[in-house]
Amino acid sequence: MTDKSLDRQRVLLELARRDPTNVPDTLRAITKVAALSMGVERTSIWRLVDDGSAIVCDDVYMLSKDDHRPGGRILARDAPHYFPALLESRALAADDVTTDPRMVDFRESYFPRLGITSMLDVPIWYRGELYGVLCHEHIGPPRHWTSEEVNFSANLADLVSLSLEAMERKTLERRWEAVIDAIAEMVVVLDADGTIVAANAAARENLERGRVGLTLDARNRTMEYRDTRDRVLPPERWPGPRALRGETVRGELIGLKSLVTGEMRYVRITSAPMREGERVTSAVSILTDVSEEVKFERIKRDFLAALAHELKTPVAISKSYAQLLSRQAGLPERALPMLDAIRRASDRMEKLIADMVDLSSIILGQLVLERAPTDLVAIARTVVERAGRSAPRHRLRLDAPAPVRVLADSSRMEQAIRQLVDNAIRYSPRGGDVEIQVREDAGGAVLAVRDEGIGIPHGQQEHIFEPFYRPHAGTPNDLGGLGLGLYLCREIVLRHGGTVLASSTEGAGSTFTLRLPLFTELPPPSPQ
Ligand code: ADP
Repeated sequence: MTDKSLDRQRVLLELARRDPTNVPDTLRAITKVAALSMGVERTSIWRLVDDGSAIVCDDVYMLSKDDHRPGGRILARDAPHYFPALLESRALAADDVTTDPRMVDFRESYFPRLGITSMLDVPIWYRGELYGVLCHEHIGPPRHWTSEEVNFSANLADLVSLSLEAMERKTLERRWEAVIDAIAEMVVVLDADGTIVAANAAARENLERGRVGLTLDARNRTMEYRDTRDRVLPPERWPGPRALRGETVRGELIGLKSLVTGEMRYVRITSAPMREGERVTSAVSILTDVSEEVKFERIKRDFLAALAHELKTPVAISKSYAQLLSRQAGLPERALPMLDAIRRASDRMEKLIADMVDLSSIILGQLVLERAPTDLVAIARTVVERAGRSAPRHRLRLDAPAPVRVLADSSRMEQAIRQLVDNAIRYSPRGGDVEIQVREDAGGAVLAVRDEGIGIPHGQQEHIFEPFYRPHAGTPNDLGGLGLGLYLCREIVLRHGGTVLASSTEGAGSTFTLRLPLFTELPPPSPQ
């Protein structure tokens, strides 16, 4: 290898080490290096305009003046030999521009005007398309371009492409970072070992452990991940590591406890694996801080539970004393209906308290069902018999020609059906028929409770199952209550894999239809 070629290799290496994302700077460095190492008077870089109709010179370096300038423009139509040649050759090495047919377009004016005698032009390719050309224009006696010089120049042209690519990548990255930083959620990217390799502004600011470079181990030493029941989760059950094993975790509620400050916060985490081919190489986690909501939910839940507990005892005392008193001999006649009123009021209080307890178990996810094969008709019959005793003004009819087998928690299912039947009675104050129909239909179990009561105002039927929703509140038909019964009824039915719907005509009556899967020998998977 000659001294010169060694020199050129060193120059290429230095160029490659520069920050390639500053394109104008890189172009200037390349033209200067080309001129210096090959002893050429003018070196320039030209760019093909978008529609391919011209090339524009972005930088010309003149060796004798050691100076850079922007250059002119050459139209494709003025250079019909030169433009096609650029597309076809790796390099256009013209030792003598007066005889080379590819240079004929410039022979009349351009070459004589600048005194150019030899020319070496190397096309610059970028993303499979012609980007432009790196030109070496020699002034003085014609010279021969060696293959080593042609190669060197081709390497310089490649450096231009690399610089363009690096700049494009950086622009994209910057734009993407700006988007990620602008979102309020915390975003972190984990590598295959669970180390944080990227974190957006929200994560860096809000997450004590959101720092880039933090390993899973380091996070484990300073953080506790907890599930909704406050149980500490081992790292393999954290959403990030689960995503790294290929699972997509959607909006899971996690408690994060700092072991340094003791602070507890709650986040909803969505984690998804990122794959290269089949292999999971990293994972992205998006965290939303829901601490305020969770803390408020907990206060509500604890308040409900404490209230229910405190109310139970006095109600039980009133009820049992009323019962005891009513059995006493020699009571004045007026006392019996009064004691009965106390008993009924206590029953109602007990129901309200039970609904409150159920509501807090549902919020906590602690409504546990013990399902077993059961006859829905038998449950309906128990409900109808009990309700009939305290509804003398209504005709309760059970229409159930054959047993209907379902997989149910009998006492919860009884509670759901009792709610529908009690409501049918309660909301038909002038009495009338209450019909309970149980049958098999379209491969499912159907139980319908129909009344001839006040009905539900139009447009409110779809909300009737929402907690605390009471369409008759504040009207003459307001019979009190918390508005929880139907909500609990639907929650129970949903947990049995069923549905419950209401249809009603105001002033004419309502029908509530409950559907459940039939019990077959192979029970369907529990939706719980
Ligand atoms: P609660 O638990 O207070 O009895 P529900 O959740 O059972 O309340 O019912 C909510 C509301 O739906 C009632 O306040 C009432 O306005 C209406 N509703 C329920 N069942 C019927 C019905 N059969 N006919 C008319 N309105 C009804």
